[in-house]
Amino acid sequence: MMKKETETEKKAALAAAVSARLTERYPAAECALRYGGDAWRLLVMGRLSAQCTDKRVNEVSPALFAEIPTPAAAAAAPVGRIEELIRSCGLYRTKARNIRDCGAVLTERFGGRVPESEEDLLSLPGVGRKIANLVRGDLWRRGGVVVDTHFIRVCGRLGFYPEKEKDPARIERIFEPLVAEADRSDFCHRIVLFGREYCSARAPRCGECPLSSLCSHFLREEK
Ligand code: SF4
Repeated sequence: MMKKETETEKKAALAAAVSARLTERYPAAECALRYGGDAWRLLVMGRLSAQCTDKRVNEVSPALFAEIPTPAAAAAAPVGRIEELIRSCGLYRTKARNIRDCGAVLTERFGGRVPESEEDLLSLPGVGRKIANLVRGDLWRRGGVVVDTHFIRVCGRLGFYPEKEKDPARIERIFEPLVAEADRSDFCHRIVLFGREYCSARAPRCGECPLSSLCSHFLREEK
């Protein structure tokens, strides 16, 4: 007797198909944040990107890192100066304090290096699961999927979960059995690139979309 495909197996097959098509479309799977392979920069830029565009974060970064190239430099910088440098990113007071405090904790507890473990990363000021997964995934191919607004919207439409689902922790758990840990970073970057190019919040380009034959949202609308 043929074994019935489970819900997880169906979703894993969907993830594999989505991944194959997006790998073809976006072979490089580049992170939109230009951090030059530097863990400290990625950590800070991840924090700055909350409620801000990646483009803006890339714009403020050269001047910011010219003054705070290391955690020790951030720890020693007046918080008002960091505020000035990141003002255009929004929430700048909280973000500036987090960056300064993060620099201090990294210097005092981690020898000035960004730690690799999830627990240590989550203990840093202003660092939540999204940033921890971004840093671990990009630098060490570890951790869960990076659940940002693009990821939530696109993967909901594709049918990995109901479109009304918005809880990042639940979404991260849904993907654990679907995408191998080492592949999650590339998968997330490609979903974000795809979301920006085709599957925007207001005007998805379903007619030209390379994933339309896999997409629950599209197939429902077609009926
Ligand atoms: S078919 Fe439309 S809704 Fe579905 S992934 Fe493509 S652009 Fe998004």
